[in-house]
Amino acid sequence: MQQNKEVIHHGAGEGVTGSCHEFFMSPERSVLIDCGMFQGPDAFGAGGGAGAGAGAGGGAGQDINFSLDAVQALVLTHCHIDHVGRLPALLAAGFRGPIYCTPGTAALLALVLEDAMKVANYSAAFATTVLKRVQAQLHATPLDVWVEGGADPGPDQGADPGLHPFRMRLRNAGHIMGSAYVEFESLNERDSNGRPRRVVFSGDLGCKGTPLLPDPTPLEYADYLILESTYGDRLHESRASRRFRLKAVIEKAFVDRGAVLIPAFSIGRTQELLYEIEDLIHEDPKWRKMTVILDSPLASAYTKQYRRLKALWDEEARQRLADDRHPLNFERLHVVESHHEHQQIVELLEARGEPAIVIAASGMCSGGRIVNYLKALIGDERTDVVFVGYQAVSTPGRQIQEYGPRGGYVVLDHQRYPIRAQIHTLGGYSAHADQRELLEFLHTTVAPVGNVRLVHGEANAKAALATAIRNANLITGTVM
Ligand SMILES: [Zn+2]
Ligand SMILES: [Zn+2]
Repeated sequence: MQQNKEVIHHGAGEGVTGSCHEFFMSPERSVLIDCGMFQGPDAFGAGGGAGAGAGAGGGAGQDINFSLDAVQALVLTHCHIDHVGRLPALLAAGFRGPIYCTPGTAALLALVLEDAMKVANYSAAFATTVLKRVQAQLHATPLDVWVEGGADPGPDQGADPGLHPFRMRLRNAGHIMGSAYVEFESLNERDSNGRPRRVVFSGDLGCKGTPLLPDPTPLEYADYLILESTYGDRLHESRASRRFRLKAVIEKAFVDRGAVLIPAFSIGRTQELLYEIEDLIHEDPKWRKMTVILDSPLASAYTKQYRRLKALWDEEARQRLADDRHPLNFERLHVVESHHEHQQIVELLEARGEPAIVIAASGMCSGGRIVNYLKALIGDERTDVVFVGYQAVSTPGRQIQEYGPRGGYVVLDHQRYPIRAQIHTLGGYSAHADQRELLEFLHTTVAPVGNVRLVHGEANAKAALATAIRNANLITGTVM
């Protein structure tokens, strides 16, 4: 079947992580869409073998174990690690083509790669080389502009022979800052509606109403759509409802003078939370005494970049700026710089008991500065722990979530800590479209979508979404 030959999945075809799809524009020329790292259960048995990236560090299963012979270019949909994490291995394997991404992704990419290479234990020299190469190969491409694929353009024509016989366009995906979905339009093939044939890769699609970010741009049409399905079997809590519950937790902290601990990933969720918290504080003058502590060097670095990228914020966020508010840098926000200061704050909160909101990584409590806060405060019943993201099986986060409400304990650094804190889970900060929004993405096109291939999802999520798409009669072709 032609569909299968046109796109090969080197990651996230099955499973959620390791996104990497190879789109063949002709038998000899292809483009890679994303080159992400496998994480959690996907990392076992992924990749493997003596791949071309072997020896460059990065751990088993993170190699480039496919041929790069046809690959002309790479498009990065956004800079989450499961979409860009294998880029160092790709460069080590010899990839020298252009790397297309939005200016927002370009601004965040170096930070993400630096961190990923540290975690993967690459040498400092290798990391420096990678960052230099990325800089040289990077083509920051604005949203909504076609990048022309020329047959054999001269150097000044601006068209990329690597994309021939297609042209390419990035469109806002509303997932994290800079995120995009990518459209390839054939220069010489028409679909059954007489329009140029289009193949579209959704990347990760965001939710409507995500703080700071404009809503995803509606899909125009697609003859073949490669669609993410992370939450294909779920519906999110509304923004209003989770904001209400967050407010209730902060209210309680005020009354009992306890700390609110929020383990959060550095990029995306942290900035969304800060934005919501600033608004809650702004709303109620009595809360202006609440201290908000951002204690994660990486999250602070991303937050700074998010602030710089305010031209990409949505209208609501820009209106707040115009009203002389600072959604990501408000007065009560304290950014912890040094490890010494981190320790001081932990001790202070433990000794004195003071209403404070602490946002610290890692999101699943398996490392990072949040661990020290938990050790000091999880045994105190005034403490509230608020989870805003998925907690994987066998992480401390999952233990707290599961055993906390039953008066159990959590193991942190090989030691048991009894849980007396209140445990909350707020859905919807995940920044992935839910089933309703995914169906809407298919529904609002100018012509029905042709074939759909579901990726970036667990089997249950895919099956549920496929059934929903079939039942809604949304496409003219098949969904698989
Ligand atoms: Zn993502
Ligand atoms: Zn992803």
